Amino acid sequence: MKKRFKTSSRSDRLLRERNHDTYKSKRKLPEPTACPECDAVYHQGRWSWAAKPAGAHESLCPACRRVHDRYPAGYVTLTGKFTLDHHKEVLGLAHNVEAREKAEHPLKRIMDVQNMDEEVLITTTDMHLARSIGDALRHAYEGELEYQYTKEQNIIRVFWRR
Ligand SMILES: [Zn+2]
Repeated sequence: MKKRFKTSSRSDRLLRERNHDTYKSKRKLPEPTACPECDAVYHQGRWSWAAKPAGAHESLCPACRRVHDRYPAGYVTLTGKFTLDHHKEVLGLAHNVEAREKAEHPLKRIMDVQNMDEEVLITTTDMHLARSIGDALRHAYEGELEYQYTKEQNIIRVFWRR
């Protein structure tokens, strides 16, 4: 049974628009602020893996907030026989991309991996990470790659098929 991303209803969309600022990495916060969930530190207008300063304020970072709210910024859908036959390698590559990006940028993370009968859905906390995973899969294994970007919702959907 194929499961496609459903178009969200109007009320859903309004809710997301209203909450959108919550996830912006450039949201003004008192400095320094540390995320109580992942220990990322907000300093000089950006989140990094710096050591937690004494007396830091506490606030969830945008990535942990997305995880809590189950509200991904990126959806990467993998389909095709190759994907199913080489499931472990394909996901391993996706996780390697995440590890590399996350080391530099705390807000770039894989949120969840859902294995369905005919496809695998990877959700991410960051649009660029979703794109990087798609690019890496195509680079490593060829196949077909497609992006859909919804500016209104600031969501990217990446489809890779092989
Ligand atoms: Zn965090």
